[in-house]
Amino acid sequence: MSKDYLRFFYILLIALMIGLIFDHVFAVLFFTTLACLIWQQQKISQLLRWLQNRKTTVAPEVPGHFEDICREIDRFQLRYKKRKKKLSGYLQQFHQATSALPDATIVLDDENRIQWANKAAEGFLNIHWPQDQRQRITNLIRSPELVRYLEANDQDRKNTVEIISPRNPELHLSLRIVPYGKDQHLFVARDVTQLQKLIEVRKDFVANVSHELRTPLTVLRGYLESMLQSNQKYPKQWLSALEDMSQQTERMNDVISDLLTISRLEENQLVPQHEIVIVPEMIGKIHEEAVNLSGTKQHLFEISVEPNLWIKGSSSEIYTAFSNLVFNAVRYTDNGGLIRIHWYSDKDRNAYMEITDNGIGIPPNDIPRLTERFYRVEQSRSRDNGGSGLGLSIVKHVLSRHKSTLEIESTLGEGSTFRCVFPKEIVVSDPVKDVDQPAG
Ligand code: ADP
Repeated sequence: MSKDYLRFFYILLIALMIGLIFDHVFAVLFFTTLACLIWQQQKISQLLRWLQNRKTTVAPEVPGHFEDICREIDRFQLRYKKRKKKLSGYLQQFHQATSALPDATIVLDDENRIQWANKAAEGFLNIHWPQDQRQRITNLIRSPELVRYLEANDQDRKNTVEIISPRNPELHLSLRIVPYGKDQHLFVARDVTQLQKLIEVRKDFVANVSHELRTPLTVLRGYLESMLQSNQKYPKQWLSALEDMSQQTERMNDVISDLLTISRLEENQLVPQHEIVIVPEMIGKIHEEAVNLSGTKQHLFEISVEPNLWIKGSSSEIYTAFSNLVFNAVRYTDNGGLIRIHWYSDKDRNAYMEITDNGIGIPPNDIPRLTERFYRVEQSRSRDNGGSGLGLSIVKHVLSRHKSTLEIESTLGEGSTFRCVFPKEIVVSDPVKDVDQPAG
């Protein structure tokens, strides 16, 4: 039995004896129990006061349960203090680390309001912590790209978006939003000015070199052509050398025109939205050219088009993309092979351009890399066919400028399918009503 119960038992025993002596057992027992209860209540109130204000009041000094409770509370308090100290140490370290980060880091809530920002956010984005706490980020950074990015779904936000810093127009920033926790987002802005400069230098270099090479190459081609056409009799070994030289200058010319096409695509940031591309007509022209290219190889063409399926965009760019795909099908399909060109839409009115051949096909490992610049499956098979290795890179570039994508399926030795997927936003919804001045 605990001490508290024993004490209570002795008090009742003494009260019983006094009651018996004075012949008032019940009255004495009743008042003694009442006194005990009042005393207990007082001690509980004292304990409560002590818990509420531990610094200025003293703990109730009663042996037994009260003493144990006070000791437990003290121990618990000590443990809590230690844990708090440890946590605030971690928090301080976290703040120091994120403040030292060279990238601007901002925590946003589900309504894009600022919950926290590090020091770099001030230099890059003019966002001051804690002054800008709970401000909507779009009120502080006025950028349509950022608004579009914030409105995109999590899948689209996996890509980064680039903006000019609102604080310093010389700074190029790459933005990324990562969801974390419950309805929170980490907004990270990285300085990509140097990278941007390098890209510009590369673009300028390629454009300038290609341009500069064009003139000497035209002269060379001219001389070679006239030498080959002249009636002059060259020794046999010279004649084949001249033919080789002519072939190689033609290849160089193709590479240079493809490089210039890429430079042009990179220079023009915007695709004309008002221009209408009448794809069925365009396919007719490409078909004629493909038949010419096929020549004696006698490929079989199967064409099926949806006549009223038109898109908005740049006719010349779309022509370049489609013709590249169709000419590739001709180049990489054996004599007499079948080439199918299919232009159609699905029920949501997304449009598809599908070019299928039963040619040599592509090994699975090469498919993901086909759209890289100068990537060729086997050096020899492209060179034999006069390819520059830039065609599919141009196609991808053109499609991404039209918010569209390229899908490639292929089986080695059986054939390939190249599919351009155009979203319904760029498909002309009602060709008869919507078009004033179409361009073919
Ligand atoms: P190239 O000018 O060398 O054809 P592309 O960028 O157009 O360059 O194509 C890259 C590579 O993809 C080519 O080297 C070729 O091997 C392969 N390729 C492209 N189209 C086809 C096709 N229809 N069938 C088989 N291989 C293809």
